[in-house]
Amino acid sequence: VFPPYASDYYHYNDLLTPEEQDLRRKVRAIMEKEVAPVMTEYWEKAKFPFHLIPKLAMLGVAGGTIKGYGCPGLSLTGSAIAIAEIARVDASCSTFILVHSSLAMLTIALCGSEAQKQKYLLSLASLQTVACWGLTEPDFGSDASSLRTTAKKVDGGWIIDGQKRWIGNSTFADVLVIFARNTTTNQINGFIVKKGAPGLKVAKIENKIGLRIVQNGDIVLNKVFVPDEDYLASVKTFQDTNKILAVSRVMVAWQPIGISMGVYDMCHRYLKERKQFGAPLAAFQINQEKLVLMLGNIQAMLLVGWRLCKLYESGKMTIGQASMAKAWITLKARETVSLGRELLGGNGILSDFLVAKAFCDLEPIYTYEGTYDINSLIAGREVTGFASFKPAA
Ligand code: FAD
Repeated sequence: VFPPYASDYYHYNDLLTPEEQDLRRKVRAIMEKEVAPVMTEYWEKAKFPFHLIPKLAMLGVAGGTIKGYGCPGLSLTGSAIAIAEIARVDASCSTFILVHSSLAMLTIALCGSEAQKQKYLLSLASLQTVACWGLTEPDFGSDASSLRTTAKKVDGGWIIDGQKRWIGNSTFADVLVIFARNTTTNQINGFIVKKGAPGLKVAKIENKIGLRIVQNGDIVLNKVFVPDEDYLASVKTFQDTNKILAVSRVMVAWQPIGISMGVYDMCHRYLKERKQFGAPLAAFQINQEKLVLMLGNIQAMLLVGWRLCKLYESGKMTIGQASMAKAWITLKARETVSLGRELLGGNGILSDFLVAKAFCDLEPIYTYEGTYDINSLIAGREVTGFASFKPAA
């Protein structure tokens, strides 16, 4: 029997295949038993729990939908559900997996040669090695297509020069997927840079108020040589990164769903246990209205997220649809998690309670993989035919 959680109100599990249900159950069990007990401690310390990597490998989700090369070949729905179940327990863990799998591994799978897939994917799938994905730069976040890092062709390879910012997992990644501007074509190309490459420096970004376990780095690439064998020949223009971002945005949209479910379930328990004015908090009308608003949001988010996966699996999903889902789901999750924080009163600001940690973790998710605004503009362009990324002249 699937553990009955209060947030599963519309029996969303019934929409899943038996394999997806099994995966959900397995991921939930491992996350709750192995990971949940230590995450607040690591969040407080802003350290990555390296000892948990073998447990995260046991989830069997790294590589997601990729088939072969030791990857699990999951349905997109299965992959997404796994991300939600991870995020339900700890959002940072879900970001670690997403950057590694849905960004870096997927880029190698979609844009790499057969030899590159053979060389890198097997150990990434088992988490024996870890990857990161570097697009953003200090001066180019939302406007990533203007990025300034350069790639100059030389005998036998490329020389990469420039900087990257905010890159998740980069402080310890073995494999760094890096995007740079080809000095001959002026187009964006992709490269695999290896840990320890001469000229590569990574400094941890400190003092984050959310996703504190994720190790984000500032990267400096000072004349880093990348051999031809590590050039991702199928990344020919910036548009090619959109192929990856469209999929990873679907996955990112499931993080706020998982976070919201975790918050709701905790609040539901808490309100029944804590008493004020001689009655459980759950007995007060205003609190019930908040709970029902949260629960309604979650059911709607689940259905949008599920439908998006089905559109992708049937080959119909557009970039605008993925962007709209990422934007709208994070917006609704922000409302949901804020209500949860309110419901816990003072305890809602203590990181000892999942709700406060989730509240902070949602903020970077609202911003990364395209901010709410940028994803709205991507969807807006698709539905109107007008691009409005630049101010009117
Ligand atoms: P800016 O682009 O400076 O935007 C600031 C504000 O202006 C935002 O509200 C934005 O919506 C708004 N804005 C900008 N342009 C427009 C416009 N045309 N119209 C309307 N509003 C606009 N990047 C990677 O490559 N790899 C990673 O692994 C990675 N991980 C990250 C992890 C974290 C925790 C964070 C915070 C970021 C990460 N990023 C990563 C970078 C992330 O994708 C960028 O932060 C994001 O794209 C926004 O860019 P920015 O922070 O430079 O904000």
